[in-house]
Amino acid sequence: MRPFRYERPATAARAVAAAGGEAHFLAGGTTMVDLMKLDVMRPERLLDITQLEDGRYDFIDWDGKSLRIGALTAMATLADDDEVRRRVPMLSDALWLAASPQIRKAARIGGNVLQRTRCAYFRDTSYAQCNKREPGSGCAALDGGVTRGHAVLGTSSACIATYPGDFAQSLIALDAVVEILGKDGPRAVRFAELHRQPHSRPDIETTLEEGDLIVAFSIPDADFPRSRYLKVRDRESYAYALASTAGALRMDGDVVADIRIALGGVATVPWRAREAEEMLKGSSISEDGLERAAEAAFAGASTTEDNAYKVDLGKRTMVRTFLELARMEG
Ligand SMILES: Cc1cc2nc3c(=O)[nH]c(=O)nc-3n(C[C@H](O)[C@H](O)[C@H](O)COP(=O)(O)OP(=O)(O)OC[C@H]3O[C@@H](n4cnc5c(N)ncnc54)[C@H](O)[C@@H]3O)c2cc1C
Ligand code: SF4
Repeated sequence: MRPFRYERPATAARAVAAAGGEAHFLAGGTTMVDLMKLDVMRPERLLDITQLEDGRYDFIDWDGKSLRIGALTAMATLADDDEVRRRVPMLSDALWLAASPQIRKAARIGGNVLQRTRCAYFRDTSYAQCNKREPGSGCAALDGGVTRGHAVLGTSSACIATYPGDFAQSLIALDAVVEILGKDGPRAVRFAELHRQPHSRPDIETTLEEGDLIVAFSIPDADFPRSRYLKVRDRESYAYALASTAGALRMDGDVVADIRIALGGVATVPWRAREAEEMLKGSSISEDGLERAAEAAFAGASTTEDNAYKVDLGKRTMVRTFLELARMEG
């Protein structure tokens, strides 16, 4: 690992002022230190934000039906929170099914949503071609690489790397808002606008500006007891999603009053399936209807020989999620 300077800013404002260039925030370090060891990330200064003294950044606050969560809340703390599990199980499911107990204890939810792709060619610097790591160098995955884990939605001719996280799917489904402290002060952006599809610049992964610190996530309408996160993977623990669905449902009698669908493991960014939602709103839940909506959700898929199976797997995962939700009370 290359040498770096470790700093511990006392306040969020000082952390933001110090960040930028080769000075990066450090939360749990489970992405950052991992990628530093691989020489993929090369910060010169790490700004530890876990001990800020100017307020609490690890909180879970309900106000009526709205939920606000501090960005430095540990994954395990949120996963285990009784009220969150009862009122919006998809949030805790997504965290419970992610990583390992040790990682969930160290990692924070702000760092979690900013984790980087697991594309093997991005993580291994012996491959010269990676537009995400070295803009303009090409893409080893598309140039004859193994692409079984790669994305089928939101891809470009420059990059097909999958967004690997689980929790972000629940946030995008719930219309979460990201609260940011930047060099020009505080602002808020829709979670759906945080991640950028690769287009011609896969190295620019988010809409954050230099020095932006995520301080919290707020969800104005978080009461979704009939919600879940279903994750399909190669083995039952400690594995990333091959396909997943964050689903939430509100029924008015037999009719769908509100439905939220987000897909993971299949796209380059957290992926909201809005067209499928519109098809299902106002009707009753049926297997046929769900299959048609899943077809629409994957209509724009672009596949390789290795990852074509994800289209069928993704559709089935979505259908199963909602058949199970339809059977739940609530
Ligand atoms: C072996 C392994 C298995 C894993 N499996 C899964 C899995 O199945 N599902 C899953 O979802 N994840 C998985 N992960 C990823 C893991 O969940 C993330 O590494 C973790 O959540 C990142 O959080 P962190 O606090 O450690 O972030 P850090 O590593 O500290 O930071 C990550 C990035 O975010 C930036 N950052 C951190 N906090 C902020 C903030 N508040 N504002 C602005 N920028 C910030 C940092 O500068 C850095 O660029 C796995 C990781 C490992 C190592
Ligand atoms: S898919 Fe993206 S991350 Fe992977 S090698 Fe290609 S450019 Fe790099």
